[in-house]
Amino acid sequence: MYRLTRWATTNSLLPFLVLTMSTVVQTGVSPGGLQAQSGYVPQFAHFATSRLDAAPQGPDVGVSTALPIPSIRTSASGAGLVIHATFNANVDAATQTIINNAIASYESTFTNPITVNIEFYEMSSGLGTSTSPTYTVPYSTYRTALMNNSASADDATALATLPDDSGNPVNGGSIEVTSANGRAIGLDTPEFTFGSPCQNFTGSGCIGLNVTLANGHGALLSVVEHEMDEVLGLGSALPSFATPSPEDLFRWASAGTRSFATNPSMAVPCVAPSAFFSIDGGNTNLNAFNNCDNGGDYGDWITHTPSQVQDAFTNFSGTPFLSVTSTEIRALDVIGYTIVSQKKRKTQITSN
Ligand SMILES: [Zn+2]
Repeated sequence: MYRLTRWATTNSLLPFLVLTMSTVVQTGVSPGGLQAQSGYVPQFAHFATSRLDAAPQGPDVGVSTALPIPSIRTSASGAGLVIHATFNANVDAATQTIINNAIASYESTFTNPITVNIEFYEMSSGLGTSTSPTYTVPYSTYRTALMNNSASADDATALATLPDDSGNPVNGGSIEVTSANGRAIGLDTPEFTFGSPCQNFTGSGCIGLNVTLANGHGALLSVVEHEMDEVLGLGSALPSFATPSPEDLFRWASAGTRSFATNPSMAVPCVAPSAFFSIDGGNTNLNAFNNCDNGGDYGDWITHTPSQVQDAFTNFSGTPFLSVTSTEIRALDVIGYTIVSQKKRKTQITSN
């Protein structure tokens, strides 16, 4: 049976979450069906939430009304990652184009043969927000699935830091994965039916975009990618939950010392003690997490200049977008997404 073990308490989303939980009770998926498919029953635990804000102390940057040019690579052919966007009625055509271009970029970057349904809506507060159903999965199950889907050099490096134990190396328990992340590595973590503002939508994520504010800074593509990254699986369980998210397996305080603790500092930008993303046991700092109780996501980056997609608080310096070498894409790679090989890309281009 499904058991509600925790839920997010982000104030701005709490009414939504309460509604969502009642939906969960009414629409519960048949555990028997899940067992038949995968041999184990993921426990529905909570809807992960994230938030992206404009930095209150950011530099005064020029306002641009131009939309950023998305990075579009060769579209993947055949079986591979498929992302279907559903647009709330208030999402205009120009915004839909930006979202579809972002989707094309993910689809040509990752090959996992799953379909990820996401609904997008426009909002007038904050900058971006996302909500995703998550499942509690035994660490050993998650690790085995990761090993079975290991493809890149980064995957091999990252797996070497994940011990073959029953409990996770962060605090000995399970791992909390989003629906999309679990399915990417073959786990049975089905999509779920949302409440308002994505009422009755069944999918992997519900994303809100402050289109007016984002466009005012040429940042709409960045905001779209930020929230899509989190639907796919990036993020931290901090500060509210004990069961780590996949990216928390790669959260370090220093070489050989993991980090999974709240930091009472409310500063923006965040101040020490720091935590950073590393796939080699903390030896190489690939990016710094927003490790503060400042209202931004613990799993996001600190504020960069120029900005990066996953910055928790953006100062709108530059118009970032993801590429295959972005830390965000490397993080998605090591938590279970498979990057299309250069060889495969070449084949796709020439074998039409
Ligand atoms: Zn975020």
